[in-house]
Amino acid sequence: MNVYDSERMADLLKPLGFIITELPEDADMVILNTCHIREKASEKVYSELGRIREYKEAKRLKDQNMVIAVAGCTAQAEGEEILRRAKYVDVIVGPQSYYRLPQILAEIERKTVVGEGPGRGILEIDFPVESKFDFLPESAEPQSVSAFLSIQEGCDKFCHFCVVPYTRGAEYSRPVETIYEEACRLVEKGVQEITLLGQNVNAYHGTFSDREGWTLGRLIQYLSKIQALKRIRYVTSHPADVNEEQINAHRDIEKLMPYLHLPIQSGSDRILKLMNRKHTASYYLDVIGKLRSARPDIAFSSDFIVGYPGETDKDFEDTLELVAKVNFASAFSFKYSPRPGTPASVLDDQVPEEVKTERLARLQSLLFEQQTAFNQSFIGKSISVLFEKQGRHPGQLMGRSPYLQSVYVEAAPRLIGQCVNILVTHASQNSLTGTVITQEKIAI
Ligand code: SAH
Ligand code: SF4
Repeated sequence: MNVYDSERMADLLKPLGFIITELPEDADMVILNTCHIREKASEKVYSELGRIREYKEAKRLKDQNMVIAVAGCTAQAEGEEILRRAKYVDVIVGPQSYYRLPQILAEIERKTVVGEGPGRGILEIDFPVESKFDFLPESAEPQSVSAFLSIQEGCDKFCHFCVVPYTRGAEYSRPVETIYEEACRLVEKGVQEITLLGQNVNAYHGTFSDREGWTLGRLIQYLSKIQALKRIRYVTSHPADVNEEQINAHRDIEKLMPYLHLPIQSGSDRILKLMNRKHTASYYLDVIGKLRSARPDIAFSSDFIVGYPGETDKDFEDTLELVAKVNFASAFSFKYSPRPGTPASVLDDQVPEEVKTERLARLQSLLFEQQTAFNQSFIGKSISVLFEKQGRHPGQLMGRSPYLQSVYVEAAPRLIGQCVNILVTHASQNSLTGTVITQEKIAI
């Protein structure tokens, strides 16, 4: 979602004459779009800011200015503190208020013209009543044939470990019309694959012509009618929100990729309850079973947190057991990171760091084993790959399989932007390699 927001910020600033530069030392403005989900991500903000400050100072020596803005969830959560600790920061904008960047820049410009000097940085972290989507301009040239489209934001679930409800705000679903228009514009510009985004994307409940009741499944059905759109994905789903229309979408819509990111966090019902996750392990397995019946070739990825406060060896074993039962194609796993303001951060029974490290290593070794086996199961088989860009080596292209695997193939650059059948020849933990299957070979 930060990638989506970063692109929208660039779109907002384009009419003001800004273009993107690869050289931060040249920039008239630097926007640091931040993440607050774990401590590591937040800490990075200050080290990055230190680096950007040097560019700003070098420019000042040449009598030039550089506006530094911090955006995203760390800006939302720690805006005041950033302004106190890094006095050279000019602007703080939250994830729901960044659409005001043009006005903020006008204000900075005015101050400079009347010689008021930079003064204290501008802080814009309210949750406005209006939706930012009503103020965002049309997206510029897409960077790739695969694009993101935000359809839902925020979260009302309040899992006890998570900052999202505080930094992204309450749940909001965009109306169907505006999503459809944005999708059509992307497709007109050559996009073939759209990933619908939301913190709880399957809690989507949008309106169409002011009529309520549009679920994610129905929205996907509607978007799938856009002829030149080849592939649809969505992320991230919450297990408790999986409904029949979502499951049926996987059964009925060929363009919907047979791959679902469905975070569970823990395999222990006790921990799930303490986390306020609103589902049990068996409920999760039940949902997985229903999706597999609807779409037998579907594969799953997930998120896990190890070392949640109070997690015992037995709870952790339950997680390993659940992983063994599901057999994931891929997964993200993290050590629990106490986040300020969340209920879990103040619990007494925090798990020692070395226990978290040991559990994470065990979990990851099982998950990596499953991921490698999943990838290897494609050797000798044909899969469709949407080529996105040049690969790592000359003459090589990189594309994605329906299961989001990176696939490297020696192929002509003209195939970028096309879905091509590939014969998989090698597989590793992180990628596949293969060869293009020519039309004649398909006929044989
Ligand atoms: N809405 C999604 C998750 C969004 S956050 C869901 O409910 O599944 C992305 C992932 O970051 C989470 O799934 C979780 O695994 C991880 N995460 C969130 N807060 C965390 C914390 N305090 N410590 C470690 N991992 C965390
Ligand atoms: Fe965070 Fe996801 Fe839980 Fe919402 S549902 S609080 S985004 S982990």
